[in-house]
Amino acid sequence: MTMPTPDTIVAISTPRGYSGIGVVRMSGPDSLPILTQIFMPTAADGFNDRTAVHGKLVDRDGRILDDGIAVFMRGPGSYTGEDVVEISLHGSPVILDAAVGLILASGARMAQRGEFTRRAFLNGKLDLLQAEAVVDLIESKTEGAAREARLRLDKGMSSRIANIASTLKDILAELEAHMDFDEDDENPAPDPESRLAALISEFTALQRSVDSSRMHRDGIRVVIAGKPNVGKSTLFNTLMGSNRVIVTPYPGTTRDPVDDFLVLNGMGFLLCDTAGMRQEPDPIEREGIFRTQQRIDNADIAIVVLDGSAPLDQEDEKVLCTCREKASITVLNKADLGLVIDPGHPLLQSTAIPISAKTGFGIQDLEEQLRMTGSARFSSDAGSLLSSWCVQPLASAEQHVKAVLDGLHTRSMAPEIIALELKKALEYLEEITGERADDGILDRIFERFCIGK
Ligand code: GDP
Repeated sequence: MTMPTPDTIVAISTPRGYSGIGVVRMSGPDSLPILTQIFMPTAADGFNDRTAVHGKLVDRDGRILDDGIAVFMRGPGSYTGEDVVEISLHGSPVILDAAVGLILASGARMAQRGEFTRRAFLNGKLDLLQAEAVVDLIESKTEGAAREARLRLDKGMSSRIANIASTLKDILAELEAHMDFDEDDENPAPDPESRLAALISEFTALQRSVDSSRMHRDGIRVVIAGKPNVGKSTLFNTLMGSNRVIVTPYPGTTRDPVDDFLVLNGMGFLLCDTAGMRQEPDPIEREGIFRTQQRIDNADIAIVVLDGSAPLDQEDEKVLCTCREKASITVLNKADLGLVIDPGHPLLQSTAIPISAKTGFGIQDLEEQLRMTGSARFSSDAGSLLSSWCVQPLASAEQHVKAVLDGLHTRSMAPEIIALELKKALEYLEEITGERADDGILDRIFERFCIGK
């Protein structure tokens, strides 16, 4: 899918600030002509494809602004598939802005967010899933997330979708060939049932991977739940090792859920402190509790905090009941005051961990349990994870395949209709790889990029 890209774009590709080196990147047909206007090579060889050239950045009056290294990469063998130039200069915003200014004055225009990668996509260098892996790789907050995105960039995911598409195309071709012959012909009717049934399992596996993808990218959502004053905020702060949430001795004072990112052994957790769940809250608290309930529903793991120094009461039971359906860890806080709740109490979902959020006692055990529960929530299928925007087209593709299976089963579907259903399923798969993605989906994905990527 090669599209004409008549203009040349430019952007600073390194973060804004003071650094040893900063990189200005251009892509488009005028990249090389513009480079020759603003960059004087030290040696006489000029610019050869993929060769680093030392030289000076000069303005229109011949004044030297900086010296650096320029690399010209001829399309289509470049990242974007177009002629690309990267100039490494000293990492001062003043110098980098001056370089961009010269390039703009020579006829280029500023790149939009993700426009380099969008061009790579439009020129067939990357498919949509790979383009998304690029942004996930750049934004990865943990080693695991970076590794996973890197694997996806190597086409792990795209090839899985392509395999489904190729099976559907094979079946479609067999079916259409058969439709061209008469019923009593020697050509036997194709029997794609078992192949289609296998595809349904693959759809299910892919849908499961969506949750893991979100957990890799944004962290596993952990909610700290419990009635007021059991020590939720103190535990949050102890786990975070900071004092971001105001801790007070008055019940019900943490009203807004607060999130923070916690990394334990390379695994990312989005930790969420919540308003305490009381039975008879005032209206403001009620709003906080409503949000708390939402947070609990959306969380991957709940840490249920009980005050271990006091007997279990109805409010505790309510919290335990709310989190019953969740993967949860129960902690008996305030163990430093002496425990009165048995860690093996029959109302607790699993053995509770005695901790003291105040002194740090038991926190390592809790972290270990968090890591174990977190690992169990992940799909082990690294490199094969899908983003949430893929859920809908995937489900639609599955629906059409299921319709065909039902039709075959009951022998109630004409071959023409089967072919039509299979084509529709294929169209949805092509939405995912980008062969058919509309501008809305493209905009949503490329808006996540920074300028210069
Ligand atoms: P939240 O309402 O559940 O968020 O509870 P807070 O974190 O605000 O704590 C309520 C009170 O319990 C504060 O006075 C804390 O200092 C105290 N507290 C929290 N954790 C512990 C603990 O492990 N031991 C003791 N002795 N006090 C604690």
